[in-house]
Amino acid sequence: SPGPVSNFLRTIIEKDLAQGRHAHKPWAGRPGPAYVQRGAAPDPARIRTRFPPEPNGYLHIGHAKSICLNFGLARDYQGACHLRFDDTNPEKEEAEYVEAIIEMVKWLGFDWTYGEEDNLYFASDYFQYMYEFAEALVQAGHAYVDEQSADEIRATRGTLTEPGTNSPWRDRPAEESLRLLREMRDGKHPDGSLCLRARIDMSSPNINMRDPVLYRIRHVEHHRTGNKWCIYPMYSWAHPVEDALECITHSICTLEFEDQRPFYNWILERLAELGLLLEPLPQQYEFARLNLSYVVTSKRKLLQLVREGHVAGWDDPRLPTLAGLRRRGYTPSSIRLFCDRLGVSKADSRIDYSVLEQALRDDLDPVAPRAVAVLDPLKLVITNWPEGQHEPCQAPVNPHDPEAGMRNFSFGRELWIERDDFREDPPKKYFRLFPGNRVRLKYGYIVECTGCVKNEQGEVIEVHAEYLPDTKSGTPGADSVKVRGNITWVNAADAVAAEIRLYDRLFTDPHPDAGDKDFIAALNPDSCQIVQGWLEPGTRAEPGTTWQFERLGYFTADREESTVERPVINRSVTLKDSWAQ
Ligand code: ATP
Ligand code: MG
Ligand code: MG
Repeated sequence: SPGPVSNFLRTIIEKDLAQGRHAHKPWAGRPGPAYVQRGAAPDPARIRTRFPPEPNGYLHIGHAKSICLNFGLARDYQGACHLRFDDTNPEKEEAEYVEAIIEMVKWLGFDWTYGEEDNLYFASDYFQYMYEFAEALVQAGHAYVDEQSADEIRATRGTLTEPGTNSPWRDRPAEESLRLLREMRDGKHPDGSLCLRARIDMSSPNINMRDPVLYRIRHVEHHRTGNKWCIYPMYSWAHPVEDALECITHSICTLEFEDQRPFYNWILERLAELGLLLEPLPQQYEFARLNLSYVVTSKRKLLQLVREGHVAGWDDPRLPTLAGLRRRGYTPSSIRLFCDRLGVSKADSRIDYSVLEQALRDDLDPVAPRAVAVLDPLKLVITNWPEGQHEPCQAPVNPHDPEAGMRNFSFGRELWIERDDFREDPPKKYFRLFPGNRVRLKYGYIVECTGCVKNEQGEVIEVHAEYLPDTKSGTPGADSVKVRGNITWVNAADAVAAEIRLYDRLFTDPHPDAGDKDFIAALNPDSCQIVQGWLEPGTRAEPGTTWQFERLGYFTADREESTVERPVINRSVTLKDSWAQ
């Protein structure tokens, strides 16, 4: 296969490597976790990236882009990619999410070990370092304890055109801030009464540089540190410290963080000046996030869909969560292929959902075993075929792969066909069954339709046909009669009953949450239709098994509910894009 397509990040990394910019430096000698010993590693990682999810929800397809990018760069440049839980916001985080995230990163096919290193980290393990670094900033006059409320801080921050105003506490002596910071840590002050702010520039054109808050007081329990801390670091303060402590070289984030980069650098430079961090310092780079049509990926909105019961859970096969995509039948390689095709750029764009679907088709086509399924069954009776007689038929398991062998099923007098494959009054260019017309029953005989039977309501309940002897597929006479239609069928005598869930897009609007739209109003009422169908014999619906059902699409046995005895099968994607204009 061709090598990875280049992008601006690869260009940067190749230049950095050529210049030896990240040649490994020994650690300053601070006691600490794994990164401390890394200086002695015989084979130091040449670059270090990280994927830093906040454990406040399930991973979605947008995260997959970041995972493939960060782990992919590490793999391609003999580096390490860390999986780091950014668990600095205790109110919204739960251990359940940590487990789910670990499972999905592994499922996608990535690994955070590098040689002997196990690069799984938790930001909460650095709370003590962050705190000590904060004390050092206070002592150096780079931070102060503010007594203004959150509202006052917001109101005095200024605007894009107006500078902010200095807090009355901005110039208080460092010793006083230090004493208050320690009291904050020791739980002597209530939530919101004090906070620690960086002392930078209230008139900076970049609002993020106007004395941003570093620590706030929150008397809440943390899912890992319990009640040890009652002050928690803000994301923009915690993140550069986490990156630096882990010796990250390229810290890759989405474009919204571009305006945070000056603060990221300011923090790292101040801590390096104070001798607390070693150069080279991590560098932040931004890329465009994935915006996929017909879905929402905000965790808040996904949570709303789950909580309000619009979907059956985080792994509902209609959701763009990785758990949902897996259950729908997406393979890890299809998602990696999708991410590769997206490329990496700094230009915001929206990707059509059909690009994701095509990646699944392209991934499965060469490997998925074929089978026949009838989803909207109508009985076809071959009136000149002897009752009770069954004749073996064969078809390739996968036409692209002769080694996959053949599948076996039988032809008989009563067959199931798709209701749509018969018309009493056919429209123009309809080549399937109608009275007087001949079609091939795929892998079986050519039949000629002789009529149909209707119930009292006038619905067709049975189609009648006669087979033409000597026309069976694979026999010398197969081509003696020419027909234009070729339809799929299963023998009613040995077909396997199955519940089949025909999933469609969850939203009818390509941009369900653009602007301030009510995305709930854009839900597709027909996003899941359940039918009882028939499967070719031998289709064992072990959970997670995938097939191409001929003419219909790719289908996967539900990993939660399917059993061989009671198959429950999800439509993963149709064969053709039914939404194409
Ligand atoms: P949400 O906004 O849905 O809460 P998030 O960005 O806050 O998501 P995190 O857990 O903080 O979620 O994200 C972990 C990493 O995944 C971050 O580095 C973030 O940049 C990246 N990421 C999240 N969403 C996308 C996306 N749509 N495209 C690319 N990367 C993304
Ligand atoms: Mg977040
Ligand atoms: Mg976010």
